[in-house]
Amino acid sequence: MDFDLPADLEEYRKQVREFSLREFTEETAMMHDIKEKYPDELRKKALESGIIDFSNPWKTMLGIEEMCRVDPGLGISATVPYFGAEILMLHGSDYLREKYLSKVATGKMMMGLGVTEPGGGSDVAGLKTSAKKSGNHYILNGSKMFITNGGIADFFVTLVRTAEPDVPSKRHRGLSVLVVERNFKGFSSNKLTGKLGVRATNTAELIFDNVEIPQENLVGEEGKGFYYVMEFFNISRVFVAAQSVGIAQGALDMVTEYLSSQEKKGVPVSEELKFKLSEMATRTEASRLLMYKAASYLFNYKPNPTITSMAKGYASETAAFCAETAMEVTGMTGLSTKLERFFRDSKIMEIWEGTSEVEKIVISRMMMRGDSSE
Ligand SMILES: Cc1cc2nc3c(=O)[nH]c(=O)nc-3n(C[C@H](O)[C@H](O)[C@H](O)COP(=O)(O)OP(=O)(O)OC[C@H]3O[C@@H](n4cnc5c(N)ncnc54)[C@H](O)[C@@H]3O)c2cc1C
Repeated sequence: MDFDLPADLEEYRKQVREFSLREFTEETAMMHDIKEKYPDELRKKALESGIIDFSNPWKTMLGIEEMCRVDPGLGISATVPYFGAEILMLHGSDYLREKYLSKVATGKMMMGLGVTEPGGGSDVAGLKTSAKKSGNHYILNGSKMFITNGGIADFFVTLVRTAEPDVPSKRHRGLSVLVVERNFKGFSSNKLTGKLGVRATNTAELIFDNVEIPQENLVGEEGKGFYYVMEFFNISRVFVAAQSVGIAQGALDMVTEYLSSQEKKGVPVSEELKFKLSEMATRTEASRLLMYKAASYLFNYKPNPTITSMAKGYASETAAFCAETAMEVTGMTGLSTKLERFFRDSKIMEIWEGTSEVEKIVISRMMMRGDSSE
């Protein structure tokens, strides 16, 4: 077993770090956070400079980690225009991949994923948005809530109900995925402001009022939507683990620097503070190892949902723990530096793409079924 990354990945990690340190200046990060403005110029720069590279998922994961280590809001913004792309990659027709996915990959279009509704996000099968077949179209009615890129994306891969479940207790049946364009008649969005964190990302409510969706915008097969979205979460949760490890590492960097500089100045650093640093470092490393294990299963085409949920659940709680502990250790210094943003940005890690409780439900269900982590 070798815990070292291959040289090309180490080199890539270094490039992303240099890019992030150069582009994610404090001024840029603060401005986008305060104004709640999406950094479109950074999205373009990241793509043009070649550091967004979908040819290798290890690079995507390491890139997300390194960017979020410097600034979570900007890091997530630079990597989120492709959110949901794997669903089109795995199940979209040639027509959909050509019309939408190829343009997302080249930065000509931005996409989003619409699953959560005003009635709740954890109970995916309980969604209410419905699409009724009418000739060679679907007529879409309903709404989606808290959708990333909701106010700026060109289209959304959207989970909707196309049929009532054949067995009432099997609510996950009868769901399908449609591609909904912003410029379809009857589509509108409302930007949501005042979020606690990741304020550089754009979040909106989507409203569908008798939107006509061409039949060819159905992704894969009708009725398979729930499975496609769950399969996607088993991929995207590894990338949320990467966001979380980045945040935890960024907080750890700041605390290490702060305590070392205190000691250099001759200010005594108590044992208690050193123990906090140790715990942050240990939990960050444990999260990274879980993430690598989940990634290694996933990127070798043998996804392991138990390990993936462990990685996402543990890393996200570690991000929140490290950001909070860093604030405690650094006191006033933390409150008036970028740590304050890390503290706010870390909370969403425990919420999106499966809350901590949802991850625990997945883990315990898989364990009791006999699908253990080994
Ligand atoms: C900034 C932001 C961006 C987002 N981006 C997107 C996006 O792009 N696309 C998208 O589809 N969604 C997005 N979401 C939504 C996100 O995925 C949901 O917030 C999340 O799934 C939780 O859903 P909810 O907020 O409705 O909470 P709920 O599902 O109502 O849950 C509330 C609480 O109850 C707990 N809970 C729920 N069910 C159970 C249970 N069975 N057992 C134990 N506890 C339970 C939860 O863990 C949580 O603590 C985003 C959210 C935010 C805040």
